[in-house]
Amino acid sequence: MKQSTTNPKSPKILLIYTGGTIGMIEDPLTGALRAFDFTYLLEQIPELQRFGFEISSIQFDPPIDSSAITLDIWLKLASTIEKHYDTYDGFVVLHGTDTMAYTASALSFLLEGLGKPVIFTGSQLPIGRLRTDGKENLITAVQIAAERNAEGLPMVPEVCIYFDTRLMRANRTIKCSAEQFEAFASYNYPALANAGIHINYQNMYIHRVGQDGLHSLKVGKTMNPNVVVLRLFPGLPQEIVRTILSIPSLRGVILETYGSGNATTESWFLELLAEAVQKGIIIVNVTQCLSGMVDMSRYDTGIRLGQIGVVSGFDMTTECALTKLMFLLGKGLSREQVSALMQQPLCGELTPNPNTTHK
Ligand code: ASP
Repeated sequence: MKQSTTNPKSPKILLIYTGGTIGMIEDPLTGALRAFDFTYLLEQIPELQRFGFEISSIQFDPPIDSSAITLDIWLKLASTIEKHYDTYDGFVVLHGTDTMAYTASALSFLLEGLGKPVIFTGSQLPIGRLRTDGKENLITAVQIAAERNAEGLPMVPEVCIYFDTRLMRANRTIKCSAEQFEAFASYNYPALANAGIHINYQNMYIHRVGQDGLHSLKVGKTMNPNVVVLRLFPGLPQEIVRTILSIPSLRGVILETYGSGNATTESWFLELLAEAVQKGIIIVNVTQCLSGMVDMSRYDTGIRLGQIGVVSGFDMTTECALTKLMFLLGKGLSREQVSALMQQPLCGELTPNPNTTHK
């Protein structure tokens, strides 16, 4: 662990570098980007010292491109935060952008009762490049992680993604661009803060469960990987659906449907889903649309899905629904408990519609 300086009252921030473009350099021979030592990253941003915060850092060894992330790494990240939770005021996780929305969503469930900021960030251009977006992202993420409100409590006690001037709830966020600096978006929930000349926090949107004095941090230790995302498309072959749903270890399906939760009503399709539900597989309906929500009471097709036991994912993103399902299945709960919890907000990840909750 590397540490910087300062007076004992200054906020203590732990930077956890997992890998990703932000800390990469170009291989002079191949031109490909590869991970570099984290010391280099801190050297690139001497400005961080000017905050006067006590900033320590941990580097994952080896740092990884986030497209190689695994559930074990999510659990390791959660337990790293647990280990250092009492020592630090806030955490900044540097992570590749490709799967940041998955990892940050997973962490929002694994860190139950969180009362301190865990801010994910990264960049589209490596930190050593002249036009990098990494500096602003990292500097502002550190400031947000250290910020306190008038009562002296952490300003944003949530798992968030900070990217290109916006602080977003992690489990509401998706990667929306492989090109623009504005690489992340939260279509179904407002930004928790906007960083311009000032960082303007939107207090009414910030989730503060971990600060109510009733909750303490409880860190999840297992997740169940036996889930699949099944995206509908016109002409999806019956054989493919049948084969997927008959995988013996399958425990859950995130069904990406059309519009407000609609799917074909061909009898073979509904019968296969009904059989899967009967076997105990949890099927969660999320929409392929970027904004808006599933409403299974709106069209006949949605009503039929509800009748056979498909549960509504309301306005959850696929990343969120998937990691939430892995988390809940990992707890060893009953099918009914998992179905019920999938339709309730645990940490601000969905906007429920009580009229369309399914058993
Ligand atoms: N492939 C990189 C990663 O996700 C991309 C990035 O960091 O932006 O690790």
